[in-house]
Amino acid sequence: MKYIITAFTLALSSLVFTQAVMANNDYKGDYKKSYKKDYTEDYKKAVPPKKAVLPVDLVKADFAVMVLGSSGPVATSNGRAGSSLLIFVEGKPTLVIDTGSGSFKSLALSGATLADAHQFLYTHMHIDHTSDMSAMVKSLFFHRLGAGLLLPPAINFYGPDSDVPAYDSMSAYVDGHYDASIGVERYLHGFAAAFFGGQSPFVPIGHNLPFDVSSNAITDVLYDHTGVSVKSIPVFHGGTPSVAYRVEYKGKSIVWTGDTNSSTDNIIKLAKKADVLIYDTAILDNPTPEFLLMFHTTPTRLGEVAAKAKPKKLVLSHLSATTEANIYSIKKIIKSQGYRGKIIPAEDLQVINVW
Ligand SMILES: [Zn+2]
Repeated sequence: MKYIITAFTLALSSLVFTQAVMANNDYKGDYKKSYKKDYTEDYKKAVPPKKAVLPVDLVKADFAVMVLGSSGPVATSNGRAGSSLLIFVEGKPTLVIDTGSGSFKSLALSGATLADAHQFLYTHMHIDHTSDMSAMVKSLFFHRLGAGLLLPPAINFYGPDSDVPAYDSMSAYVDGHYDASIGVERYLHGFAAAFFGGQSPFVPIGHNLPFDVSSNAITDVLYDHTGVSVKSIPVFHGGTPSVAYRVEYKGKSIVWTGDTNSSTDNIIKLAKKADVLIYDTAILDNPTPEFLLMFHTTPTRLGEVAAKAKPKKLVLSHLSATTEANIYSIKKIIKSQGYRGKIIPAEDLQVINVW
């Protein structure tokens, strides 16, 4: 009887085993079949011809900006990503400014690649401006690989210095992520070495910019080989070390305020006669809670600054559910302060060509 039970158990387990192997083989067979199907004769059919116009196709001028994210830290059903901009020079994405939550997804939808964009600018170290940094960096690796390019000699990260315990300086932030010994994403060195050959060609460099808001000195951040220049100025954002940027190319200019309550006139100085001024529009004139007045610019103050700086176009970004719902009255308030240029509410994946 014992032998019968043992034989039965063996037979049963062998049946189960055989079925498992068969299932596994079936899986492999199907996988092979679908692989072959997708990547050989039916591949062209599987990838439909491009009909829709991708956002990247809307870049027409020599100098342009694409909004990758036009919101702040609150996830809402409007689907906006956290703050992020992509600057195009001669049709190529060249600079990334802020990489807020969801900007990686926007980049994917845009059809643009980061193959030629290895300069990252950060206005401040809040999560709605930084969180997709590593996702962007790793995508940059693959975009360069796809374009048959080696990694650039360095990937540069520019952002404010810090003397506040709650915030790292830009260089400390970069080291905290990518230092080969202690960075939380240190594996990227091994990854880059494996993909690009030999020793790690991943050279991340953090650059610290002045953030003292009592100064209105403009800092020359970089002058790129493409002819792009970038300047920064400190701005007040409730005590968070923060800067705003002005990007210039062939006499044209794009300014991004980052987050600020504009309590100083620094934005007026930086944005003077800019072609495009992209502004933090997160609050109304009487926000709740009131302490938001320390962090963001009211429509009235935004109008005052715009009236004095006189940018050709004013783009309202870093929109919140509240400001998005009140965009018409915000525009009216801005105009009432004397601004006469064009006011455009930002949208994710919107392209602004600077002619
Ligand atoms: Zn923000």
